[in-house]
Order: sequence, then C-alpha cells, then structure tokens
Amino acid sequence: MTSSFSNLHLAEPLARAVADMGYESMTPIQAQAIPVVLTGKDVMGAAQTGTGKTAAFSLPLLQRLMRHENASASPARHPVRALVLLPTRELADQVAQQIALYAKHTKLRSTVVFGGMDMKPQTIELKKGVEVLVATPGRLLDHIEAKNVVLNQVEYVVLDEADRMLDIGFLPDLQRILSHLPKTRTTLLFSATFSPEIKRLASSYLQDPVTIEVARPNETASTVEQRFYKVTDDDKRYAIRSVLKEREIRQAFIFSNSKLGCARLTRALERDGLRAAALHGDKSQDERLKALEAFKAGEVDLLVCTDVAARGLDIKDVPAVFNYDVPFNAEDYVHRIGRTGRAGASGLAVTLVTDHDSRQVAEIEKLIKKKIPVEPAPMADFRPARQSRSAEEFRPRREREFDGAPRTSHPHRPSRMAPRASADPFFDKPYEASAAAEAAAWDSRTAPVKSAGIKPKRKIAALFKAPVQTALS
Ligand code: AMP
Repeated sequence: MTSSFSNLHLAEPLARAVADMGYESMTPIQAQAIPVVLTGKDVMGAAQTGTGKTAAFSLPLLQRLMRHENASASPARHPVRALVLLPTRELADQVAQQIALYAKHTKLRSTVVFGGMDMKPQTIELKKGVEVLVATPGRLLDHIEAKNVVLNQVEYVVLDEADRMLDIGFLPDLQRILSHLPKTRTTLLFSATFSPEIKRLASSYLQDPVTIEVARPNETASTVEQRFYKVTDDDKRYAIRSVLKEREIRQAFIFSNSKLGCARLTRALERDGLRAAALHGDKSQDERLKALEAFKAGEVDLLVCTDVAARGLDIKDVPAVFNYDVPFNAEDYVHRIGRTGRAGASGLAVTLVTDHDSRQVAEIEKLIKKKIPVEPAPMADFRPARQSRSAEEFRPRREREFDGAPRTSHPHRPSRMAPRASADPFFDKPYEASAAAEAAAWDSRTAPVKSAGIKPKRKIAALFKAPVQTALS
C-alpha cells in the first residue's frame, strides 16, 4: 500500500485538484479506502471526521464517474449517479464544499440539499442535473416526493456519519430513500463506531463489504491533554475563563448537553464580555452557518455547541474543548474531544465535573480505558463574591431537552434546591430570547459584547417546539 496520490493514477483533473489542495500524501483511511472504492466494492469504514474520510470516498467515486463526464447542457445527460447522505446541515454543506473542490476541474456537477432553506433554489439546481448529490435525509425525501429528483441511475451511495444518523432517528428516512435506488450499486458506509445497530444496517444494505478501520473506535487522540476539573454548577463559567486565561487560549468549543443550556450559556458568556456564539438544532440554518463562519473568521472565540450540531464539523486547530456538561453518552466524549488535537496538533480537553456526574465519568473512563484524576479547578479572580445560582439547578425539567442524546440515557438529576435569597434574578425567569446583552447584575466589570454576525435569538415558543429531527434536516 502506498501513501502517495500519484500512484493512484487518478484522472488528470482530479489529480490537479488534489495538488491544488496541497495534500502531500494520503491519510491512513485514504490509503486503505481509495483503492477498494476504485474497484467498486462496498465499504464499511470506521473513521472519525478529521481523518480525511471525505476525500477517501469522494475521490474514487469521482474517478469512477469520470466516464459519465460530459459538457451537454441537457439535464438528462446529468442524472444523479452518486448520493451522499449526512445527518446534519453543516456536515452536508461541508462535505459538498469539499466534493466541489475535488470536482472543480471536471465537468461533473455536484450540489447539496438540506432543510431549513428555501426548496426553490435547490429545485432549480436539481432540475439542471447533477452527478453528485449531497443531502440530509429529510430534505431529500421532500425533493423525492415533489419529483424534483430521480434516483434511478444512482450507482454510488455514501452513508456518512451513519451512527449519528441512526442516533437522530433517521433510519426510517434512510430506508425510504434506499428503496428508491437501483439494487445494483456500490454502498459505502462510514461510522465512528460499529455498534450492533450499524452492523444491522450494513447487513441489510451492503453486499459483502470490505471493512476498513483506521483507528480503533473510541480511541482518543494521544495529542489531546485531558483534564477533569471538579466544580460546582456555579463555578463552571469561572473555571472556563480561568483556564482560557491561564493557558492563553483564545478559541474553544464548549459543549452543553441541551439546546437550552447551550443558549443560556452563550448568553451568560456574552454577559461576561466574551465573544460567544451558539450552535444547536433550534438555531435557523442561517444563524448556524453565520456562527460557524464567525468562529472560523476569528470574530467569535467560543462556539457553544450541542453534540448533534457539532458532530463532524471540520474546524481545524481548535486549541481547546470544554465539556461544560459531562456528556450523557461516553462516546460523545470521544467525539467532542476529537475537535481538538487533530492532525498532530496538541489540544486541551477540559471536562467540568460536578458531584452528580460520577456515573458518567466512570463510563467515560471505561470507554477510553484510562483513569483521569479529578483535580481542583483553576479559579482565577473571575468568581464574584456573591454567587449566582446556576441555570442547571433551577431550570424547569421540561427545558432540559436534549439535543441528540438518546432519551433512554437520561441520567438521574438531583432534585431542585430551594432558591437562595441571593439568587440572580436572571435565572429565575424562563429563558427569554433577547439580543440585548445588558451587563449582568453580578458582574458589571466587563463591557457586554454582542457576538459578531449572530442574529437576535428566536422566541421562546420556537425553542420548545421543534423536534430534533426536523430541526436538523
Ligand atoms: P475529513 O475527515 O474528510 O473531514 O477531512 C478533514 C480535513 O483534512 C479536511 O480539511 C481535508 O481538506 C483535509 N485532508 C483530507 N485529506 C488530506 C490529505 N491527504 N492531506 C492533508 N489534508 C487532508
């Protein structure tokens, strides 16, 4: 096996695109998967994002589609030949952008469709004809039902982030989509883990697949420094600020277990004078893309995310990841901290652990086969003399809505505590969407800052309403 792209004998336009990208050699998943996909075999790949798996499936797929390349303006000459399905809008957009880059010197066309956007422009693109269609399942079904797209000439299907698609509950949608495709085709399935559900999906839809595993599932990158800090709910934000200050870290991802927790935390960080933006399933597509772009452009320093919204985002070199909440699923811990320390860069993963997180911590340690000592949290001088109550303690139960974690794994939460006399009135109110970042009563030292490019938040009703599935696709 070789790690040089030149030995693959890719068509010249593809080889040129790879050279344009500046890739010097293949990543392990590419070295293993590309030759197999070139033979047309089905593949079951265990690879996480950041391993170069998008190129691992799209380059050989484009290579095999080169025989259909033509300059005709007729849509009939450009039927969908390859379908790439992903769980979230961001991932679909990201993968479509990469495919467009790899195909840019060819005459092969590609486009992306996902929910939360007007269907009309997508319909126009689809009707012009595209060889490669990247989609989230829900929106693709809308287009199939509206007869905007015909899939009877599909030769390749990629189920990317398949485990996450199942977690979100996309199995029925996937089954419906797959029923529209020709039986004779190549199917590629990529998943971070090979759970029994994934194996079942593979046995139903893949034929004699070649299994490729580049890193043992659940293995955490050795370049990530993992720290567990003991905190109370009240101290979490101060701990984050202290770590950022001590380590001189500017940008980080902060993970919250719920959409509302994510919204509240973002707001609180903004009130602390930090440049934060929220990324979760209740944000409009436009807001989410803007938050992502603002983070990439360095206009936002802290991206506060839920697991579903953040899964697989290709943002490189995030110096730190904070688990504001210990994830309910140990596997999510691995995915979260995989955002940092990618491609050989060192990263810091800080998990804020409270007294009621011990069960989840034990599960994480079991999964990663490593014991991580729970240390006292560094506390710079951010903590106000008068403590405010935390959002988590006093949030009504119905607000603790998950954004992606299966409900069956809902942990035991302590009962609500009696309100203290010195409570911060901010947390007594139900969540109110307001863009006004007035200074917090307990911390008037810092000037409020509004996150760049983030629109005013949505009304409370919208935050309670949208089910995870429709919010994502
Ligand atoms: P992915 O795992 O597909 O999300 O890819 C992660 C990142 O790695 C993307 O930004 C790719 O552009 C980049 N990448 C993919 N293949 C290579 C390669 N062979 N050499 C360097 N970077 C790569």
